[in-house]
Amino acid sequence: MSSWPVNCLVLMYKSLIMKNITRRNFFNNAIKATVAGSVAIPYLFNGVKAMAQGSTEELLSSSASALQFSQIKLPYDYAALEPNIDATTMDIHYNKHHAAYIKNVNEAIAAENISFATEKEFFANASKLSAKARNNGGGAWNHNFFWQCMMPNAGGTPYGKIVSALDGAFGSVPKFKEAFTTAAMTRFGSGWAWLVKDASGKLVVTSTPNQDNPLMDTAEVKGTPILALDVWEHAYYLKYQNKRNEYVANWFNTINWEEVAKRLA
Ligand code: MN
Repeated sequence: MSSWPVNCLVLMYKSLIMKNITRRNFFNNAIKATVAGSVAIPYLFNGVKAMAQGSTEELLSSSASALQFSQIKLPYDYAALEPNIDATTMDIHYNKHHAAYIKNVNEAIAAENISFATEKEFFANASKLSAKARNNGGGAWNHNFFWQCMMPNAGGTPYGKIVSALDGAFGSVPKFKEAFTTAAMTRFGSGWAWLVKDASGKLVVTSTPNQDNPLMDTAEVKGTPILALDVWEHAYYLKYQNKRNEYVANWFNTINWEEVAKRLA
């Protein structure tokens, strides 16, 4: 009887050899299993504690998978959107502004024990977040989205089903551009212009202040973002100074309509 663990190990070992797993892997895995066992204990303990307090939410929030924002790789070179957006602006915008939002939101998530599991859930609870978490979380997400709204040699003209979608919602593509430009131009101070699909599936143009976005429960117009334009001065001031109107007009040349079509699907 006393030799059964040894026999058991021998059997496991034999079966692993049959699966062509090396001896070294077997011992590594055995070590990992032991480590995993001891790591699991505090999580189990947290779970039990939450159950004792009788809250399902607390139990869920004790999960080890806290949300982390990460910065996407820029899908093109800094100079790729020239002459509409200059390389220096892209470099500073991506490496300084956006990188800082990412760093700061993750700091806030850790420091404030923010336990939302997904970005969607995070923004749906924006009204409950600290200013640091809300502003930097918005900044992190909005820029990841914004980089993908643009592409080199974009051509500037929507095509296919995008045209019929914009025609249906705004009357025509020029009328959509007019509505979007108005949203971008009338957003006082810093913020964003958006094309959004609202809860009823309707396409609408809106704008948000600061780093807010339409995913936030605080947004005037809520919905799924389809297209976004950053109208913070840091997005255009080096090249356009006070001429936001020229920046907005030229930005239309950079729109990645292929990506917009995917988001409309
Ligand atoms: Mn920005």
